[in-house]
Amino acid sequence: MTQHTLDASSITRGDGLVDKAYKVIRDAILSRRLAPGSRLSVPEFARQLDISRSPVREAIARIEYEGLAESTSHRGAVVVQIGLDELISIYDLREVLEGLAARLATRAADTTVIDDLEQNWQAHHDAVESGDVERHMELDAAFHGHIRDAAGNLRLSDNLRQLQGQIRIAMTTTVARRGGMDAALAEHRTLIDAIRGGDPAVAENVARDHITRLRESLHDAALADHHHIDERHET
Ligand SMILES: [Zn+2]
Repeated sequence: MTQHTLDASSITRGDGLVDKAYKVIRDAILSRRLAPGSRLSVPEFARQLDISRSPVREAIARIEYEGLAESTSHRGAVVVQIGLDELISIYDLREVLEGLAARLATRAADTTVIDDLEQNWQAHHDAVESGDVERHMELDAAFHGHIRDAAGNLRLSDNLRQLQGQIRIAMTTTVARRGGMDAALAEHRTLIDAIRGGDPAVAENVARDHITRLRESLHDAALADHHHIDERHET
């Protein structure tokens, strides 16, 4: 493991060390400084962050619970590796769960929920205008996070958060293309309008269509760029 896998600058002593260690390790995974298959070493991370082992151990347990890492018998926790077939399975499941989230969110939606979604959409629109792919991915994840939270079902949230994290890991240097960003923005617009419209079944269908389109474009991109996906298996 290299010297600078973790960014220790946000770690300060005091309460909440687990939270901070969690955030630093999670950032390293999502930014791929810790690539799929990398070992999450408690003693090594404790040394890098200059904190004791116990908060690091707890942070890693949380990361495993979120599905970003998994335990192995001989190497301890490692960052999950997700191949194309598994990624497609994740999207199949996500389609159903995002549909459910949209249905429940529509029943529960008040003006605060709609306002949050509108604000997210505006920021997302600006990001797409300026071609900022990183910000697009962030705001896209936040959009679905708002709907998930509004749905008010903890089990559903946990499952969706896990799928979303695994998708981010699998999406290496991004398969996102300009056309994809515009389509996502338009579909989010339709979904906000459906939630505001108040018919849970309509919102569910719109959400499912959005994820179906993502799965199909992923499949096409993978076929067009086979190498790109293959290298995920090699660490
Ligand atoms: Zn989306």
